[in-house]
Amino acid sequence: MNFFLLRTFLLFCTVALPMQSAASPAPKNPTHRSAGSNAKKNASLKPKRSIQKSKTTFSKSSVKKPQLNKNLALKTKSAKVSTQSVKKQKPNKKQKAKARAKTQQPVVKKPRLIVIDPGHGGLDKGACVKECTEKMLCLMTALMLKKELNEKGFRVLLTRTSDIFIPLKKRTTIANSAKCDLFISLHFNSAPSASANGVEVFIPRYSSSIRKTNSKSIAEKITRRCKAIMKSNCRGVKEANFTVLRETSMPAMLVEGGFITNDKERKKLLNPVYLQSLSKAVAEGVALHFKK
Ligand SMILES: [Zn+2]
Repeated sequence: MNFFLLRTFLLFCTVALPMQSAASPAPKNPTHRSAGSNAKKNASLKPKRSIQKSKTTFSKSSVKKPQLNKNLALKTKSAKVSTQSVKKQKPNKKQKAKARAKTQQPVVKKPRLIVIDPGHGGLDKGACVKECTEKMLCLMTALMLKKELNEKGFRVLLTRTSDIFIPLKKRTTIANSAKCDLFISLHFNSAPSASANGVEVFIPRYSSSIRKTNSKSIAEKITRRCKAIMKSNCRGVKEANFTVLRETSMPAMLVEGGFITNDKERKKLLNPVYLQSLSKAVAEGVALHFKK
């Protein structure tokens, strides 16, 4: 009888206990476990924590790696920036001079080109009183002025070098084609009044402001030098719409060197020394403008 009971009990244990453990599954959320949960359950969680820790440490290390890479990248970037900053540094004057001496020829400035236009010529005598003709005074003064300007380092081109007639349009074409820095047309005056005398300079009336400003600046310097060197009456700088002033594209002026119709001034004009002083005054005015 006891043996039977013992066998029944053992049979019960082998069948009922597994059923009980299967009927009470572990809660999904470990935070809902009571504080009195047994050690087995805690023990079953320990491996999970260790996995989480290892995951955390892995994730931390994985976070650190980019930081290291970032630091390296920053260092590389800063190195690049420093290299660039070195590259971008401009050479100082000494370095520039050394480089130029090694590689380049010394910079030579091209001399300024002045076109001188002796007025009239050939059949066109211009103003004429007795033996004095404007065309001859213009040519003589132009040749003297050329010499003065050459001595000051200017290149000079004349629209005519002999007693020939050149149309006005051709004179301006010569100046524009040469792309000269200054156009000077030389003339001598005449007036119904015999008392009119002195030097006057005309500049373009209608022109771009920069051309007009430069023309005026040079003309004013010329008249000042005329007053100082020639001791003559200075009638100042005036505006006009002459063809040679209107059709040229560079600073331009027409110098009236004196009145042929004034007896006293005509005698002066027939003296080459006076024409030489006029040429010198014009050349000095030009040089004052271009060689500041
Ligand atoms: Zn004239």
